[in-house]
Amino acid sequence: MAFDPISLTDDEVERVAQVRNAVARELPAGFVGPGLGAFAGNDQAFSRRLAELGLVGLGLPAEYGGQDSSAVEKFLIFEELNAANVPILAHITTERQTGPCILRYGSDYLRTRFLRDFASAKVSFSVGFSEPDAGSDLASVRTRATKVEGGWLVNGTKVWTTDAHLNDYFAVLLRTSDREDRHDGLSQLIVDLRAPGVQINPIILLDGSHHFNEVVMVDVFVPDEMILGEVDRGWQQAMAELAFERSYPDRYMSAYPVLADFLHGLGPMASESDYEVAGELTARFMAIRHVSLSLARAVDLGIPVTAEVGLVKLFATEFVQEAIEAVRLRFPAEIDPDSSWVTEAHLAKATMLAPTATIAGGTAEMVRTVAFRGLSGRDARLSAARRDIIQDTLIDIFQDHSTLDTILEAEKVGMARDLWNVVADAGLPWIGVPEQQGGSGGSFADALSMLRWSGYFAVSLPLLETGLLGAWLLAGSGLPVPAGPISVAPGSSADDLHVRRHGTTFLASGVLHRVPWARNAEQIVALVEVDEQWHVLSADRAAVTIEPRRNIAYEPRDRVIFDDLIIDTVVLASPGIDPAGLRLRGALGRASQIAGASQYAADLSLAYAMKREAFGKPIAKFQAVQHHIVRAAGEAELAAMVTAVAGQTFPEAPSLLHVAAAKTVAGRAARIVAGAAHQVHGAIGMTQEYELHTRTRRLWSWMSEYGTELEWAAEVGRSVAAIPNGELWPTLARVATERDREFAADPAVG
Ligand SMILES: Cc1cc2nc3c(=O)[nH]c(=O)nc-3n(C[C@H](O)[C@H](O)[C@H](O)COP(=O)(O)OP(=O)(O)OC[C@H]3O[C@@H](n4cnc5c(N)ncnc54)[C@H](O)[C@@H]3O)c2cc1C
Repeated sequence: MAFDPISLTDDEVERVAQVRNAVARELPAGFVGPGLGAFAGNDQAFSRRLAELGLVGLGLPAEYGGQDSSAVEKFLIFEELNAANVPILAHITTERQTGPCILRYGSDYLRTRFLRDFASAKVSFSVGFSEPDAGSDLASVRTRATKVEGGWLVNGTKVWTTDAHLNDYFAVLLRTSDREDRHDGLSQLIVDLRAPGVQINPIILLDGSHHFNEVVMVDVFVPDEMILGEVDRGWQQAMAELAFERSYPDRYMSAYPVLADFLHGLGPMASESDYEVAGELTARFMAIRHVSLSLARAVDLGIPVTAEVGLVKLFATEFVQEAIEAVRLRFPAEIDPDSSWVTEAHLAKATMLAPTATIAGGTAEMVRTVAFRGLSGRDARLSAARRDIIQDTLIDIFQDHSTLDTILEAEKVGMARDLWNVVADAGLPWIGVPEQQGGSGGSFADALSMLRWSGYFAVSLPLLETGLLGAWLLAGSGLPVPAGPISVAPGSSADDLHVRRHGTTFLASGVLHRVPWARNAEQIVALVEVDEQWHVLSADRAAVTIEPRRNIAYEPRDRVIFDDLIIDTVVLASPGIDPAGLRLRGALGRASQIAGASQYAADLSLAYAMKREAFGKPIAKFQAVQHHIVRAAGEAELAAMVTAVAGQTFPEAPSLLHVAAAKTVAGRAARIVAGAAHQVHGAIGMTQEYELHTRTRRLWSWMSEYGTELEWAAEVGRSVAAIPNGELWPTLARVATERDREFAADPAVG
């Protein structure tokens, strides 16, 4: 997939700051705006003012008065406008779709005629696709253009035409000739909404507002030069236009005002379940936002993104509905649509308009089908990331050595012993650990990527425990890092280990619970409190008693018993090395493994559905099956993205908010992906001989290790509830910069 966490250039960061300031300066004090992203209000004067500020015509070249912005810049600016709740509907269509379409397909005449006016917001457009008998099945449009001297005569009716009563033109998809294939013979004509023969009839939305219209065209003359693109080749253009429309931030930003109101309303006395809901929504919002932003970067890089566009629209629109519903369920009273309290007014409007999210711009069902087409056109395996040299090496090793047989064998004996020797020779467990500390070097992001692939291939080894946790605890506190596997006690609330000074050494007695891989480790490492200070304890495995236990992935989660052990390797922990820091690293590492296992389960489901036949065809032909696969693939991508983004904050400034969001989103992905993947597989997925369970059992285990989805969601909720009002958007909108990235790769640069 083309989703990769991005970092912003200095110029992009600067531009966002300029836009934020410029918009704030333009708004009267206390401005709340019509808000709600896709329903942000149509105000031509305001759009023109934005144009004067250089905030319109973003993707258009300078020769047409445009700003020559990259897709990322354009995305960020639109997001800022949405976050400020300002009215942008007067120019959103030209900006989002008509401008790019005219630029790509339009004649010189159309470019000259319209693009400058788009850049100054002097001309506005509606979208002319839907008809009374053509919605999802758009190729069945009946509006027809008949060739006449110097142009075309258009007859037909378009419906649901947003703001046709306010805008100047619309680009109409219509039939220009009859062909065997209905997708041929369609064209796009630009029709003047005030031309003779055009009648605009209002259609009032269920909240009483007027956005929709029916546009009836009777013998409307359209001159030849208003044909957009090639005659009879309009279908491909229309699809490209829809792709432009689907990937804009206004989708998920439609829920932002409601979410922000809810978050601002949470005080320190909010209930745990309020924090959980707030946190889950915020975590998903952050994930969707980063995925959408990375799509914009992929567009700038010219990477094909058919499946990604579909996924982004699905993530955003389903999120909008779920967010609005979740907030409404927690609203303490009946909602008054005429309330002067903006929170209530927003919620009333959002409630009534929420269903539009998964209908406008193509229904969720159609978008999922398109996304599936994009997914199935690719290599089902190893689609999880674009690869670099480090990834290539580890993928080859994991792929060759972590097979169903070796995984099942490891589950019996506790660890894939032979594989340990191979990965240790390649230095993989110590990726992300500085060389001077006995590690293999590489960044924190490299380590997370390695863990993701270890999850993808269900590698039965203590990789997280040895490197990001064990080596960090030991080397960070001045203890040597052993050459063998390390086990780290995660810090269970049931732990009962007491360590006290014993002359120049220490005496340890008690029990540590659910210690991963303890029986296989060379050293068992734990954080222990001595004299009210955190210390790192490292014990030889042979010096303790181990009672084997396991999780449902059949990975060791042992009881480790210290029987009055005299031990001298207990040292004061360095600043930053404490249970909270360990929990953050542990949660992020598991989230990364969950992302990988989720991606594998999604890839496996796709591969299986292409092979398995029912009713005389592969089950991948059935829409219900396609939709399960898209759902699984999408959730896996969200988990991978939010985990990588949280990783960008390490090692310098680990962000509780980002890690909490990562484990929340990953926990959700684990649930949804496992469910969807099993459904696609039917009975075979439930068998030992088929490999799906090697991933789903890990998902079910890892989702609750280092904190459950709900615990972390509440953590996100508490974090955002503590953010002062004016700081919420800047906090959520923060993206790592290229400088941060350079620093993470080589702290010496900083
Ligand atoms: C807020 C809003 C603004 C809009 N603005 C515009 C606009 O400006 N210009 C414009 O042209 N249009 C606009 N539309 C229309 C929009 O594009 C259509 O509503 C949409 O394409 C769906 O068409 P339909 O409403 O006819 O539903 P239908 O196509 O009749 O679908 C009804 C249901 O059947 C399902 N369905 C249909 N076919 C299939 C299939 N093959 N497989 C599975 N399920 C299927 C759909 O998913 C849906 O659940 C807007 C819609 C909304 C809600």
